[in-house]
Amino acid sequence: MQVNFALLLQIMIALIGAYVVAFTAALIIWTFRDIRSRSRDIFAQLLATLMVAVFSLPGLFLYYILRPKETLAELYERELAEEALLQDIEEKQACPSCHHVIMLDYQICPHCHTRLKKECQNCKRLMHLKWNVCPFCGHVPSELAISTPTTAIMPPERLSAARDA
Ligand SMILES: [Zn+2]
Ligand SMILES: [Zn+2]
Repeated sequence: MQVNFALLLQIMIALIGAYVVAFTAALIIWTFRDIRSRSRDIFAQLLATLMVAVFSLPGLFLYYILRPKETLAELYERELAEEALLQDIEEKQACPSCHHVIMLDYQICPHCHTRLKKECQNCKRLMHLKWNVCPFCGHVPSELAISTPTTAIMPPERLSAARDA
């Protein structure tokens, strides 16, 4: 009876030991997978896995507190959403005068008739009212070519070519 009890105890210890080893291995694997989905930093991956390997459950608890909040996939999705939102804001501008929503390619505000953009005399594309050179074709509007100081540094032959165009 005494022998049987010792054997039973041995088996139980072996079972508990095997369970602890399997549990720790599972924790380590879970941590490694989790940190890999949250950080590309190899050092952080190694540190997190090691922390759980050494401290087991308390290590996992620590990791759970310290790990990056978002997975890389979530971060990517959030960045995409933010970019889309920014684009939306850029495309839907407001009229500086009446603050109605206007499109980027409006020349005149349909609500208060404020002039928003001007057309390039050469390539007919829309320019900002403050621009005194067309960024698309390099054309200098004739009224500006004479009056603004920025065009004074232009060589005369380019200036007259711009005026003739
Ligand atoms: Zn307006
Ligand atoms: Zn132009």
